[in-house]
Amino acid sequence: ATIKKVKDRGGSAISALTSDDHERLSRKAHIEKRLIYALDRKDLQLLYQPQVNLENGKVERVEALVRWTDSEIGVITPDELIPIAEENGLINEIGSFVVETVCRQLKDWKSKGIDLQISINSSIHEFRDKDMAKMLLEQLKINDCQASSLMIEITEKFALEAEAERSIMTQMKSLHQEGISFALDDFGTGYASFRYMLMLPISSIKIDQMIIQSITKQEKIQKLINGMIQFGKSLDFQVTAEGVETNEQFELLRAMGCDSLQGYIIGHPMNATELEKWLG
Ligand code: C2E
Ligand code: MG
Ligand code: MG
Ligand code: MG
Repeated sequence: ATIKKVKDRGGSAISALTSDDHERLSRKAHIEKRLIYALDRKDLQLLYQPQVNLENGKVERVEALVRWTDSEIGVITPDELIPIAEENGLINEIGSFVVETVCRQLKDWKSKGIDLQISINSSIHEFRDKDMAKMLLEQLKINDCQASSLMIEITEKFALEAEAERSIMTQMKSLHQEGISFALDDFGTGYASFRYMLMLPISSIKIDQMIIQSITKQEKIQKLINGMIQFGKSLDFQVTAEGVETNEQFELLRAMGCDSLQGYIIGHPMNATELEKWLG
């Protein structure tokens, strides 16, 4: 390990960087540099994963998921990309790219007679930009899209922080008033604070895939998921299960009255052309 002097806020500290740390840091720096380049050229892609309503069997919505393959680095998964982009502030540019792409996609689908809602994932950093709501509504307008065609997925962590930040609440509420809906993503993984579910303009909850995938293993887990579904429904949330992979999970969730399902059993994330074929 190399010994490096790291400047701290107050004074200085000695910290040992292992070769693993060095590798991680240089990969991060490389990703950052290439991401700036990719964003400049809008060289990211979006895939769309269908969500099926169990009551009528229809695809009611697709979730937009970002994909990035860099010519130097290769595939960078969202789980690696998003935290890095949140740290260096590039998440706002990713967000703008996603919003622009999705609005153009909505317009294109509308012209083809395909009526789908698209949900996008948003990081709280994007909402700290005071012009976020304005940018979003502008993009919808430019592309002649209805606000109700858009859903925004936020995490529990986002919701918890948003409750304490007035300007974020304000932006969410104004978007909601315009007709955009919000979903609470990865429900059940984090902060079991239920107050914000009533304070924020959320209309759907998406039960996290880790929980869903353990559904068949234990009776207790089945009861837990059933409880989550009934809890959500009793508060008038639309309840979606994500990461549904098997028939057994599918049937159990249907029997429990889950409103809609998303997962490989329905369809993998696909590009727009693949999705159009899949729909037909
Ligand atoms: P998420 O929003 O919870 O998205 C669901 C993730 O589960 C996606 O991973 C999706 O490909 C995957 N998935 C869907 N069905 C199944 C299944 O049946 N089995 C399994 N094993 N996985 C399934 P992905 O695309 O790698 O995205 C990971 C996370 O990265 C997302 O989790 C979301 O939090 C974040 N993310 C993705 N795109 C964006 C984006 O454009 N902006 C932001 N801020 N975050 C994004
Ligand atoms: Mg999501
Ligand atoms: Mg999720
Ligand atoms: Mg997730």
